[in-house]
Amino acid sequence: MTATLSACGSGAPVPEAGLEISAPAEQRLIALTDLDQRVADVGHRLSAANAELCPAVRNSAGWFLHAASQYSPELRPFAESRFGLDQDLPGLLAVPEGSAAALAGLRRGDLLLSVNGQALTRGMDRRAADYAGVEANIQRIDLALAGGPVEIVFRRDGDDRTAILTPQRACGYEVQLDPSNELNARADGKRLFITTAMAGFTATDDELALVLGHELAHHVLGHRDWHEAEARGRQTQTIPAFNGAAGGAERQADRVGLYLAARAGFDTAIAPAFWRRFGDYNWRVRYPGWSHPSAEARARALEEVEAEISARRASGQPLVP
Ligand SMILES: [Zn+2]
Repeated sequence: MTATLSACGSGAPVPEAGLEISAPAEQRLIALTDLDQRVADVGHRLSAANAELCPAVRNSAGWFLHAASQYSPELRPFAESRFGLDQDLPGLLAVPEGSAAALAGLRRGDLLLSVNGQALTRGMDRRAADYAGVEANIQRIDLALAGGPVEIVFRRDGDDRTAILTPQRACGYEVQLDPSNELNARADGKRLFITTAMAGFTATDDELALVLGHELAHHVLGHRDWHEAEARGRQTQTIPAFNGAAGGAERQADRVGLYLAARAGFDTAIAPAFWRRFGDYNWRVRYPGWSHPSAEARARALEEVEAEISARRASGQPLVP
């Protein structure tokens, strides 16, 4: 984790938000996978609606995948029985509405077996949590998706079935939920990260879209370098220059992020109240800090951006920041 330098939250530990780390294993798994579903839904909407503004794009299925091998030995038996997972084979953890995976008839719990006739690797039985095996399978799927529609063989309720999945153009950044009791989100050029505490703090999908929209904006604004854009079937594209890119990087990401959320159909009028609530909850962001405006200054700036978005909507102008 390169946490603090690029983090956009406060980093303050908030054990009561999001995922209760000390809860029994099965309860923790359920809370984690429910949050995954929300983050996948909101991430998919933002990525699909803003493809033309993203410097890196890809062909996306829209799903969140997971595998038994990535879970700790403590969580793994619950993950296997609840989701029908098998070692390194990727299973569908979240299938956002309207995503390519949903349109292909896939749903949560399906286990992927092959793509375009190429079998995915089940891997070895490992004790420690390890993401390498499922990562290699996901990379194979991503490269196949880059070529257009794919034939997927998957297992559901013990039966092997086939589906044709036609991927959708989307921003080329994965969205990842990190189990942590710190209120934080960040972007590293390849992915958007949000902690379970931060995702849990957002009361609605509109609030979650504000946080993820801000992180996506760091990518759109070129604040994060990415040297592997061509990897895994992604492509780079030239995007228009934005107006009003004044202020520091955080202020710019707030402004562009609000546009990205609005373009994806989220209610952005809630933004100022959200940041005030965030500030009330967490004294570390109440006052201006190193590189970060205070929660109140953020809220006031976003009121102006929200007014600008409303005016553009009312006069039928495109929602381009
Ligand atoms: Zn930021």
